[in-house]
Amino acid sequence: MSDNVFDIIVLGGGPGGYTAAVKAARAGMKTALIEADNLGGTCLNRGCIPTKALLASAHAYHEMKKAHEFGVECEKISFSLEKIMKRKDDIVSKLRDGIAHLIKANKITHIKGFGKITGEHSISVGETGNFTFKKLIIATGSKPLNLPLMPPNSPYMINSDQALNLSKLPKKLLVIGGGVIGVEMANFFAFLGVNVCIVELMPQLLPSEDASIARRLASIFKKYGISVKTGKKVSEIKEDRQAGCVIVKLEGENDPASFDMVLQAVGRSRNISDIGLEKASVKTDGKKIVVDQYFQTSNSDIFAIGDCASDIMLAHLASHQAVTAAYNASCASREQMHKLDAAVPSCVYTIPEVASCGMSADKAKKAGIETVSGKYMFNMLGRAMCMQANEGLVEIFADSATQKITGANILGPSATELICCVQSAMVSGLSAKEFCEKMIFAHPTLSEAMGEAFADIFGGAVHVAPPLH
Ligand SMILES: Cc1cc2nc3c(=O)[nH]c(=O)nc-3n(C[C@H](O)[C@H](O)[C@H](O)COP(=O)(O)OP(=O)(O)OC[C@H]3O[C@@H](n4cnc5c(N)ncnc54)[C@H](O)[C@@H]3O)c2cc1C
Repeated sequence: MSDNVFDIIVLGGGPGGYTAAVKAARAGMKTALIEADNLGGTCLNRGCIPTKALLASAHAYHEMKKAHEFGVECEKISFSLEKIMKRKDDIVSKLRDGIAHLIKANKITHIKGFGKITGEHSISVGETGNFTFKKLIIATGSKPLNLPLMPPNSPYMINSDQALNLSKLPKKLLVIGGGVIGVEMANFFAFLGVNVCIVELMPQLLPSEDASIARRLASIFKKYGISVKTGKKVSEIKEDRQAGCVIVKLEGENDPASFDMVLQAVGRSRNISDIGLEKASVKTDGKKIVVDQYFQTSNSDIFAIGDCASDIMLAHLASHQAVTAAYNASCASREQMHKLDAAVPSCVYTIPEVASCGMSADKAKKAGIETVSGKYMFNMLGRAMCMQANEGLVEIFADSATQKITGANILGPSATELICCVQSAMVSGLSAKEFCEKMIFAHPTLSEAMGEAFADIFGGAVHVAPPLH
């Protein structure tokens, strides 16, 4: 096979693309990975990892200021934004090296540059050359959406990419958008002492989470000094270069407010234009690439995964889809793998953390399923008290007819880790009672809250008093 001919080419080296390339190579395919920027994509370079590294620093600072609550005296606690950013960059760079090593070790050809499909089985990468493939996996991801409220290069307006590389903190920050990215950013800046206001168009923060969880998080955010305005739309932003600030007006409010920086976290658009989809008859719905349950596009030799082809934009979903698409692209003669109906966990890394999966009562009702629920509050849990992290709760939902678990909401310490216990219960197909009978939750742990919430579904929780008659 000539150097420019591959069994499988993967376009985009984010968590979807590099996972697909590794899986295809391990299936014995001659594989190339085309990436225009750094390996690791949005997730590693501008998303999941850098935000969690920054949040970890802000959380450490916040925890140290609360040291006296543990009987520990700590004086003159301070931070260096430069060092916080450097730590984040070091983590990103180490992980990037790890991916480069994986690509090399799996004998994947790494082609650097912007790939553009030129025909049914061909792709060009700038000056580097033209390449042909038997199968192509598109994993081009997404980029931040910018509101047309201010000139694109305004020094006062940043998006999530720019927020990760600030050399100076603003004094007063407006975050437009109260989704996952907006609330994590707000938490980071507020813990470092920035006066933060979040404006969200929908009636609640975290619009894709249950309203009760969002309300609890909003009230905790208010305790941190974050002002939360939901059901509000920013109608006008004007720069005042002399004063070094922007004046922001909200629809329906008379008094404008001034901020020295505005962070827009209003969603993301998929990278599907300018990649030559039309040359290979790959259809989109105008927003994303259309795929079937095998991640095949309208061209059966071309697959698409991750942000560019999904309604839900999450790194773990992109890599999960990558495994399926790479299998299907590599093993055409065998039975194809299809999209799994697994519950996709949704995680928010604030303090306290938020995590959910599957169907809560609200979502189940919309799907015509009646549910029962079990609940346990972290303020009743020994381990949470010891950790001084007793805000929040676990709510687990089950089908009222079968008592099989349908989903959960968790607000509290390590919620993003605890949620996989609910996923395990869901895939086990056991009823809440059967699951509890088979599980022993270690004591004292946060997971005991899960055990009690599972048991509460059938009235079996030890630490929940029975209703008084
Ligand atoms: C601030 C922020 C925080 C986030 N936090 C989380 C989180 O905690 N957990 C989570 O699950 N998700 C998180 N996400 C979402 C997550 O980053 C994405 O869902 C994930 O990166 C999508 O993976 P992907 O492989 O589909 O695309 P991407 O990661 O976007 O990768 C696509 C890659 O393709 C490359 N590319 C595009 N077009 C071309 C081309 N024509 N030629 C060559 N290369 C090309 C791009 O340069 C990019 O590297 C976060 C996102 C942001 C912005």
